[in-house]
Amino acid sequence: MIVGAGPGGACLALHLARQGVPLTLVETMRSPGGRFRGEALMPHGLEVLAAMELLPLPAPIPQCPLQGWRYVVNGHDWFRLREPLESGGGRRCTLISQPALLQHLLRELQQFDHVALLQGQTAETLLWQGERIAGVRLNDGRELPARVVVAADGRSSRLRHQAGLALEQLGPGFELLWFQLQEADPGPLAGEFVTLIGPAGICSAFASASGSVQVGWVQPQGKHHRLDWAEQLAAQSPGDLAPWWRQQAEAFKTPNRLRVQVGHAQRWWQPGLLLLGDAAHPMSPVRAQGINLALRDAWVAGCELGPLLREQAHEPALDAALARIEAQRRAEISGLQRHQAAETAKGMLLLHQPQLRRLAAASAPWLGSLVARRWRHEQRPFRQGIGTPTGLNRSAAAATAPRALPPQ
Ligand SMILES: Cc1cc2nc3c(=O)[nH]c(=O)nc-3n(C[C@H](O)[C@H](O)[C@H](O)COP(=O)(O)OP(=O)(O)OC[C@H]3O[C@@H](n4cnc5c(N)ncnc54)[C@H](O)[C@@H]3O)c2cc1C
Repeated sequence: MIVGAGPGGACLALHLARQGVPLTLVETMRSPGGRFRGEALMPHGLEVLAAMELLPLPAPIPQCPLQGWRYVVNGHDWFRLREPLESGGGRRCTLISQPALLQHLLRELQQFDHVALLQGQTAETLLWQGERIAGVRLNDGRELPARVVVAADGRSSRLRHQAGLALEQLGPGFELLWFQLQEADPGPLAGEFVTLIGPAGICSAFASASGSVQVGWVQPQGKHHRLDWAEQLAAQSPGDLAPWWRQQAEAFKTPNRLRVQVGHAQRWWQPGLLLLGDAAHPMSPVRAQGINLALRDAWVAGCELGPLLREQAHEPALDAALARIEAQRRAEISGLQRHQAAETAKGMLLLHQPQLRRLAAASAPWLGSLVARRWRHEQRPFRQGIGTPTGLNRSAAAATAPRALPPQ
């Protein structure tokens, strides 16, 4: 039984179903995508889709390889790098519409008679048999027994809470404003992931695969109530971007205020229960890791649990597999959360040190390429992951690159 059909739960369900494991997938939403969850897949997340033989994705799924990265400080171009960042080539970071991808995974799942897909149903409470978790009760009162419950129910995981698996929070967190500029012409963004650092905060913008422009913005404390969003961004943009922001002024609606809290569960499993993806380790949105890591978790969990569930293995063998899954995944997750924290700290330093920003902007013509080289080097773990989970063959995965569609 899997609770949650986000990228982690849906991918695990397909992995198990293909191994002949009967399962139930429970998802609160009637159709995927009611909640924006980002859409950038890094090479290490694409690697899982390739290993699952899901690439190339069908053309109707909006998808768009990123052209590059552009950093701007105080309105001056700091550095720019083209995708792929790796000198020997390889996969590009690719924007893939998550609602469309999840819909595709669910359609694949519906081909299997041994899969029950319960959309629009919420897993309300865990069922226990003595010390062991033995299923869930749904919001309509139905009880669904299960030999293993996988809680892939996201960062606020209700099942994690009910199982008493405490979340260790890493750092104080921060607030992010998230805007979706519907039907905006991407204009000078030109397929790049653009980050503007200046007195109004750190803002990242990109044209999403499905047409809108996405804007994530960390503002300096105490400056939350100014509403001339487009003008603030124009003021810290170079000449090609500033007028374009002003043209988007009408598209700025009330943003989502997201409290980003990063952490990991002290334990990812209990007898009969496994936490997966954000439920086990809520990630920061910095450098787009959460979907990728949920997919990698799902890959490892599917490889470990598939054969045991198919062969009706005894409970101790199942629980031993749950412990192995946590052991295999923890190092990569902790490592990448540390890298994200370091990346955030550098951004915050620039945000809060005007002199440092002025220095970076003034020295960009001479030092920009050096900064770019260092930045590229630091991106390696965010793109390649830390270690390769068993069964993910990087070179084989690279052979089936996602279909390259022209940028929108
Ligand atoms: C603004 C923003 C931008 C981001 N951008 C990116 C990005 O570009 N790339 C990237 O890799 N990551 C990104 N992330 C992180 C990413 O969204 C998450 O890490 C990822 O979605 C985690 O996947 P998951 O399957 O573990 O959980 P989720 O995607 O959260 O899915 C959990 C699912 O469980 C369902 N559910 C919850 N409770 C229940 C219940 N009780 N019963 C039944 N169903 C339930 C929910 O409806 C949901 O569908 C971003 C996050 C944010 C907030």
